[in-house]
Amino acid sequence: MDFILTMHELSKRYRHFQALDKLTMHIPKGSIYGLIGRNGAGKTTLIRTIAGLQRPDEGFYCLNGVKHTDPRIAAVRRKTGAIVETPAIYLDMSASENLQAQNLLLGKPKNDQVERRLKRLGLDQTGTKKARNFSLGMRQRLGIASALASDPEFLILDEPFNGLDPQGTADLRQLIVSLNQQGMTILISSHLLDELSRLATHYGFIDHGTLIQELSAEELQKQCRGGWRLTVTNPQLCIQVAQRLHYACEQAENDVLIDGGGNISELLLKLAEAGCPVQALHQQDESLESYYLDLIGGDKHA
Ligand code: ATP
Repeated sequence: MDFILTMHELSKRYRHFQALDKLTMHIPKGSIYGLIGRNGAGKTTLIRTIAGLQRPDEGFYCLNGVKHTDPRIAAVRRKTGAIVETPAIYLDMSASENLQAQNLLLGKPKNDQVERRLKRLGLDQTGTKKARNFSLGMRQRLGIASALASDPEFLILDEPFNGLDPQGTADLRQLIVSLNQQGMTILISSHLLDELSRLATHYGFIDHGTLIQELSAEELQKQCRGGWRLTVTNPQLCIQVAQRLHYACEQAENDVLIDGGGNISELLLKLAEAGCPVQALHQQDESLESYYLDLIGGDKHA
C-alpha cells in the first residue's frame, strides 16, 4: 500500500508532560483518515507536528516518502494544506480578497483559480462581505478554499466540525467527500465519532499520546460486530440451543443476546423445533462510539 504519511515512534514532550508517546501511524494515499481521541489525547500536537509547526523530540515521520529531517521536506510540505485549530483567514478581507492574498503569498498570479474556488466552496455569492461577518461554516469553508491554493495532495483538518450547525456540517461533509473523490488524501481529527463514521475510510484511535489502534473502515465494521436480541419464553433453553449451533450468546434480563450479525434462520428453526418460540427479534449494531469506549476503557470523554 502507498502511504502519504508514515510515522514511527514519534514523541513530543511539553516540559514534564508527554503529549505524544512513541506514536506510530500510517495514512494510506487516497484515504479519509479519521483521527479519534478525547480532549487532551494529543490530536492537535500530532497535527501541528505533521504540518511542520513543531518538531518531534524523538522518532520520525515521512511525508510522501520524504523523512521530516530531509531538506526536500519543504517541497513536499507545499503539497500539504492544513487547518489547525482555527482557519487562517484575514477577517477584515472578503472571501475573494483572502484567496487573492493567499495566491500572492504562494507567488501565484493574484486571481489564479479564485472564482473557481469560491464557486466550488459555495462562497461565490459573498461579494464584498468581510470574513468577520461570515458564519462559522463559511469561515471553515474559506479556510479550506485558502488551503487549496497550493493544490495540496494531502489536506489536514483539525476538528473541522466544531461549532457547525447541521447545515454547515452537511455542507462540509459533502465538500470533504468531493475533495477525496478527486484524489485528495484527508486527515481529520475529531471527537465527533458519529460524524467521522460517515466519512472515514480509515481510523486511528489516539489516547495518552499513543495510537492504540489503526484500522480500515471495513475492518472496523467487522470489529463492530452486530448481533441479535431475541425475546423468548425460555431464555435458558434458547441459550442451550444457540450454543449447540456454536453461537456465542448471553442472557440480558428476559432476552438473549446472540453475537454476530449473520443469518440466524437456522437458529430460529431449531428454537421452534425445541419448543422455544421467539416473540420478538431485533438486530443490533455496535456503534463506533461503543467500540471506541471499549477500546479506551470505557471513559466517556471522547
Ligand atoms: P483537544 O481535543 O482538547 O484539542 P487534543 O487531543 O488536540 O485535545 P493536544 O492539544 O494535542 O490534545 O494536547 C495534548 C496535551 O498536551 C494536553 O494535555 C495539553 O494540555 C498539553 N499541551 C498542549 N500544548 C501544550 C503546550 N504548549 N505546553 C504544555 N502543554 C501542552
